[in-house]
Amino acid sequence: MSEPTEATEAAEATEAAVRAEKLDAGDELADLRARFVLDDVVYLDGNSLGALPVSVPGHLDDVVRRQWGSLRIRSWDESGWWTAPERIGDRIAPLVGAAAGQIVVGDSTSVNVFKALVGAVRLARLTDSGRDEIVVDATTFPTDGYMAESAARMTGCTLRPVTPARVRGALGGRTAAVLLNHVDYRTGRLHDLPSLTSAVHAAGAVAVWDLCHSAGALPVGLDEHGVDLAVGCTYKYLNGGPGSPAYLYVRRELQDRFDSPLPGWNSHAEPFGMRPDYEPAAGAPRGRVGTPDILSMLALEAALDVWDGVTIEAVRAKSLNLTDFFLECVGQYVAEGRVESLTPAAHEERGSQVALRCEDAGEVMRRLIERGVVGDFRRPDVLRFGFTPLYVGFGDVERAARVLGEVLAG
Ligand SMILES: *Cc1c(COP(=O)(O)O)cnc(C)c1O
Repeated sequence: MSEPTEATEAAEATEAAVRAEKLDAGDELADLRARFVLDDVVYLDGNSLGALPVSVPGHLDDVVRRQWGSLRIRSWDESGWWTAPERIGDRIAPLVGAAAGQIVVGDSTSVNVFKALVGAVRLARLTDSGRDEIVVDATTFPTDGYMAESAARMTGCTLRPVTPARVRGALGGRTAAVLLNHVDYRTGRLHDLPSLTSAVHAAGAVAVWDLCHSAGALPVGLDEHGVDLAVGCTYKYLNGGPGSPAYLYVRRELQDRFDSPLPGWNSHAEPFGMRPDYEPAAGAPRGRVGTPDILSMLALEAALDVWDGVTIEAVRAKSLNLTDFFLECVGQYVAEGRVESLTPAAHEERGSQVALRCEDAGEVMRRLIERGVVGDFRRPDVLRFGFTPLYVGFGDVERAARVLGEVLAG
């Protein structure tokens, strides 16, 4: 009895594996994997911590030994340390559809959410001082919600947490600022940035977008869609390394009115004037706070080398193929009803991850990792798989789904 069943299963497995091989052979981004330090593990956690680019260790060694060890203080000028936040911001800019001069790198995403949101309320009040509400995605990554609560308290606003589907209905003449996520960290749902930004503007409010789960995975179009402010982290799809600094985008037309709630000396018009009175710098440097985190910032700069010659459109096309293929393989390998996808099937609503609701998800992920398939577990019952098109291939996808099927069967 068992023989024919096994033979059939093997034949099916072969069919998906053969397709994976063909897809890998036709993948124009396949060679980019060589730009990363990777092993035999199927790494589907690049939406939490991107893999190490091969360009980073040597560069960081030079930064530490020569720039710091030998040049010491001279490196602020001679090694370009002082201008790194804007220089690296300009390298992130094309990936999120921004012209140069609008992005500054520094601080954590949490801190930048705070700067952006308080700054947004202050901007809105320049034209209408009566605005006193902040609308925030109720399903957001917790830190954004905590920061929004504090920003609301500090600015005397009422916080209105609503699900993304209800944002439009929550907007009105009292709305000062709206904080939204481009891609939901849990479900992988992609929100409609162009139309939501338009709706926020139609209400006379300021739009702040969190790009943590979209930057480096899909086109964002910040300038094209008139986004006011945006923040994002660099250690997920931008592979900047653990705790690498985040970034803040302030649209050019708003820069001279952006009033940061954290006006540190690095954002002063004349930082070395050491003046007791604060005068904000022009342009992107206004978003700075204190001394830049040079070591992790320069690791990020080297990590961005992996984007040389790569377009975000090509990355998006491959990302959709990867997630489509994963969902297909899961359909083939995983017994009916064992998992349920929380990630939308429609491409225009899907980021670069697949979230599967699964009974006993924590234990299932532990077994997957044991067998060389690394995703992550989000409480209470979600298996999360992130697909970084720069280094994940179709063979990886087939193997991940096959191992998931085996773990759930055993
Ligand atoms: C990853 C992530 C963060 C991380 O914030 P840190 O300050 O870097 O810890 C914040 N918001 C969202 C939506 C994220 O996905």
